Amino acid sequence: MKIRKSLFVKSSLLFLAVIIGCSVPQNKTYNRLMDYANSLKVINTHEHQRTPTDLEYTKFNFWTLLHKSYLRADVVSAGAKNFDIETVNNSSLDEMWDFFGEYLNYTANSSYYQHFWEGIKKCYEYDKPIFTKVGIELLSKQIDEKYQNYGDWFDECFRKVNFETMFLDQYWAPHNMDIDKKHYSLIFQVNKLVYDIGAAKNVYNDGNMEFVEFKENSGVESINSLNDYLNFADFMLQSAIKNGAIGLKNSMAYGRSIDYEKISIEMATSLFDKSQQLNADEVKALQDFMFHWFLDKAAEYELPVQIHTGYLAGNGNQLDNGKPIKLNNLFLQHRNTKFDLFHGGFPWTGEWVALGKMFPNVYLNLVWLPQISKQRALVTFNEMLDCVPYNKFLWGGDCHFIEETVGSLEFGKKVVCKVLAERIEKGEMDEQTARKIIAGVFRENAIQLFNLE
Ligand SMILES: [Zn+2]
Repeated sequence: MKIRKSLFVKSSLLFLAVIIGCSVPQNKTYNRLMDYANSLKVINTHEHQRTPTDLEYTKFNFWTLLHKSYLRADVVSAGAKNFDIETVNNSSLDEMWDFFGEYLNYTANSSYYQHFWEGIKKCYEYDKPIFTKVGIELLSKQIDEKYQNYGDWFDECFRKVNFETMFLDQYWAPHNMDIDKKHYSLIFQVNKLVYDIGAAKNVYNDGNMEFVEFKENSGVESINSLNDYLNFADFMLQSAIKNGAIGLKNSMAYGRSIDYEKISIEMATSLFDKSQQLNADEVKALQDFMFHWFLDKAAEYELPVQIHTGYLAGNGNQLDNGKPIKLNNLFLQHRNTKFDLFHGGFPWTGEWVALGKMFPNVYLNLVWLPQISKQRALVTFNEMLDCVPYNKFLWGGDCHFIEETVGSLEFGKKVVCKVLAERIEKGEMDEQTARKIIAGVFRENAIQLFNLE
């Protein structure tokens, strides 16, 4: 009996060793790649980082961060009502858990939840596998403390995960050019100037703040013709470049479809000069003209153009606004403009990859895709590797506070390293190439594309 037992123990150990032996190399490869990714100074090509004091929050705790995160949309999608800023400001932690705890629990499976948790774990050394009522109380104390001096806290997290710079898209203040250059690089948001063209004569001459602020230096006294408007837009763009702008950004899918028809200057001029109210088609035609104008300028000034494609954040919008294939004509007509397509075009990831494969001037930015669906990001990154040269891949975080950005970076690295480690294990790729790809995604390709020093 004794002999049999030791034999059983020995064979069990052998079995275990075989199992471990099989799984260790893959983990080792993955861990090596992750170590390498962690050693890189990351160029984060897309952020919306806010200064807490500029926002309407009267306190900062777990629920404040959650309110400003993507995860809020999943909590609302699960059925939560009134998850608004007033409730966050006016409720105790106990009340917040009573209102939203159940719905938060329902989201524990989602990538929004997982990446948010990943960021909190990394920044606050939170060690619980999910957010619990007690855990949230402890976290809230830490958050309150850190947000007393958010600047220092932001910098600490920024350095902890090895960021070099973040491209800042200030959709809430599209023409603010005074940014903290130690942490950020300026992106020029075109939405406003494209949207405004249909009403430029009235709105701008009526004291539009952007126009009032910049009018004196722009040399444009008032806007009475399309030419005046284009001169003003050009002045704004050149000012941004003087202030260090490295690229343009269009996130108009949140407000309209991203199909931009080619409109002649004659047609645009006659619409601009029309004294009657423009109908919806005419407004769209003018906007289409204006975005094409920006694409020409982008080629002239050598600024890549970042475009939101696919899924729309929040809880209610026109999903097909951002279908990537709608941009196809732009890539044909603006061969000298470089396009940085965002978000995997989710859920149309296949056509997004195909566009990156077909056009030398189209780059694929994984930004936000791993947070929307980690699984789809894994599949899509595999497809990108099958189809598209790796000097065209980029990454960004796309968040409002540093914790969520840290979680996004963790998620992004895990997706990229997991896919590459699997390829190495299967003998489909050598490790040196994998490392070049990692460096490309998180740093080198952004330096090349955006001409960074
Ligand atoms: Zn964004």
